[in-house]
Amino acid sequence: MTTPMFSAIMLAALLAACTATGEQRDARPSATIGDASTASASTGNATTLPVGAPTVEKLDLPDEHWRPLVSPEAYKVLFEDDTELCGYGPHNKEKRAGTYVCAACYLPLFESDAKFESGTGWPSFFRPIEGHLGTKEDLSFGMERIEYNCARCGGHQGHVFDDGPEPTGQRYCNNGVALKFIPEGEALPALRGGA
Ligand SMILES: [Zn+2]
Repeated sequence: MTTPMFSAIMLAALLAACTATGEQRDARPSATIGDASTASASTGNATTLPVGAPTVEKLDLPDEHWRPLVSPEAYKVLFEDDTELCGYGPHNKEKRAGTYVCAACYLPLFESDAKFESGTGWPSFFRPIEGHLGTKEDLSFGMERIEYNCARCGGHQGHVFDDGPEPTGQRYCNNGVALKFIPEGEALPALRGGA
């Protein structure tokens, strides 16, 4: 049996085991993200944090639909809001040109030209494909963070912080197992879960 407290302790242990730079940045979001959220709310402008509104129609499928289609590790991240161990997932060292699609429904979420080396142990991007992500506030583990998910299937992808590089200043810290990389020159897979 896993209690929330046990999970919190486990997460804290995992975070402590990760690189100091990445996790210290992950652990300090309350001031900066709070400010950004407040600014967005007061101006009605959501172009900074969180990202712009989704432009993709959301599928109406139960999470269980995806279980046979993805790895057990990916399912835990995508549909049970798990976080993979830093440095564990794929794509950290991926430098090739290409497109990162949602591991569940195959919606393209990031292009390789927006990927950067964050040193966190998770693949990181400074910009998503516009309209393909949804966001929500995540207050778990006593932290105030902005979670983002695939706008189409709703699968959890990662968290976004405002300490990324230019030109956006944003850092999309993504679980590697939640993404599938398609090298440039290969056809993108057909979307899954459609009618
Ligand atoms: Zn998806």
